Amino acid sequence: MSLAVRPERQIRPPAIQIQGVEKRFADAVAVAGIDLDIQEGEFFSLLGPSGCGKTTLLRMMAGFETPSAGRILIAGADMTAVPPYERPVNMMFQSYALFPHMNVADNVAFGLRQDGVAKAEIAARVAEALELVQMGGFARRKPHQLSGGQRQRVALARCLVKRPKVVLLDEPLSALDKKLREKTQFELVNIQEKVGITFVMVTHDQEEAMTMSTRIAVMEAGRILQVGRPHEIYEYPTSRTVADFIGIANFFAGQVERAEDGLVTFRAEGIEAPLQVAGTLAAGSSAAVMVRPEKILMGREAAAGAANSLSGVVKEIAYLGDVSIYHVRLDSGVVVMVTNANLRHAAEPAVTWEDRVHLSWHPGNAVVLP
Ligand code: ATP
Repeated sequence: MSLAVRPERQIRPPAIQIQGVEKRFADAVAVAGIDLDIQEGEFFSLLGPSGCGKTTLLRMMAGFETPSAGRILIAGADMTAVPPYERPVNMMFQSYALFPHMNVADNVAFGLRQDGVAKAEIAARVAEALELVQMGGFARRKPHQLSGGQRQRVALARCLVKRPKVVLLDEPLSALDKKLREKTQFELVNIQEKVGITFVMVTHDQEEAMTMSTRIAVMEAGRILQVGRPHEIYEYPTSRTVADFIGIANFFAGQVERAEDGLVTFRAEGIEAPLQVAGTLAAGSSAAVMVRPEKILMGREAAAGAANSLSGVVKEIAYLGDVSIYHVRLDSGVVVMVTNANLRHAAEPAVTWEDRVHLSWHPGNAVVLP
């Protein structure tokens, strides 16, 4: 999984302010009360499982849905009474929605013609937008003569040509195959950085959100569970649901025995020795310790003096090419997942099925979740 962290941006006034927004349909609460500021120039992702309300929230920003309560401001202006076509936003749909009978240039020019922009300016802006998405040589093609990735770029050019303050993207890469999707993720981020326009993207793909976003809002059942930069969401989830949704995680349920100086001593079910975790949860609290599989050191020998030292037997190994995932069963029956990078070409793995192994991790590499 790619976990590249994008550089910090300067904080500017919010491009979008979502204030107490709810959306109820006849028989469903799609958005159950959301407050969120999205800063200018961000690449912001709404991430969550199917039905969590992310598309509805995006459509309310675009003006295709009206909030049942609350309001949305864009660049400081209340959008409540502003119809979609007058908002300083442009939405790129999952299907790209290109006009099949128009060529690429006409598709991109369409919105500018509707706005009555002068012919010469349209030509210049269309050419500039197509260059930006590297489609300059395809202006006369019809959509059916393009690949999926090329259609996606034309749809993006059509969004950008109107110079909106905000571009809204609904699962923009879902129609592309995996390889092309990964390549396009970087292209899209590069274009966004070049134009500096705020992008808000809906996705259910956590890797996509991690790779592309300055910040992510993780949603569930119409609410935001956590907002943060990708590494914050991954390394410091504030709930088990978020930890579980993003990447793979081991959870050890139990109770906080002691808490002092930012270190929690934790009694976990199925683990004999107490665990040590950086954290501040009060003694007596029921909680879970979360450790990512790549944070766990595994070896045939016990690491001397290591905190969080466990021992078990390797029961499963899943080879994924770049890494392997080991399932280690402790004597109590608790199974711990450990990932190891496969650093050497054609090397026999140091550890194999039925080997007894020792596991350990640094207290700062786990989190304790209420
Ligand atoms: P997906 O990834 O599957 O598109 P999502 O997170 O974008 O899911 P939404 O499309 O926002 O979810 O839908 C949230 C909830 O609201 C769902 O339970 C959905 O069935 C419901 N919903 C969405 N649109 C309508 C509508 N027009 N009428 C009634 N219910 C709706």
